[in-house]
Amino acid sequence: MDLRPDLRVHRVEDVAPDLLRTYGLDGLLLDLDETLLPAEADRPAAPVAAWVRRLLAAGVRLAILSNGTPRRVARVARELGIPGLALVGKPWPGAVRRGLKRLGLPPARVAIVGDQLFTDVLAARWSGTRAILVTPLSAGGMPHTRALRRLESRILKGDDRGRPVHR
Ligand SMILES: [Mg+2]
Repeated sequence: MDLRPDLRVHRVEDVAPDLLRTYGLDGLLLDLDETLLPAEADRPAAPVAAWVRRLLAAGVRLAILSNGTPRRVARVARELGIPGLALVGKPWPGAVRRGLKRLGLPPARVAIVGDQLFTDVLAARWSGTRAILVTPLSAGGMPHTRALRRLESRILKGDDRGRPVHR
């Protein structure tokens, strides 16, 4: 299983409508924590909200696909004006199927955007969607998160950092 993403960006704001068109993508399933906002934050930053509006205006379909709690996901979804699915159980394919159903798009036209190889990128691999990896918004504080990050860097090693990765 190749856990390298199709594309790596620094922030979600780097995912422009033109870029999605290049990849034949019409929808994104967005991870919440460390992708749209830091785990310890309550609200997404203004540039992230502006990015969401820009994509919606360009006709890109968006939904939050998160393993996080319903209350937190619903609050951010409401603020951004997009659907939010909580406790989905990424990376299991059922999670992505729910998201695809919500977007009304087939897997080939959708990318999962997230910060973790073992949930977000693996979910994409198992469901036939594309994977866009972002840099986590804050450094993981929990020991198990730090261990995962180290493992992730080893898997990603050899990639040309910051440049699109084509499989
Ligand atoms: Mg995350």
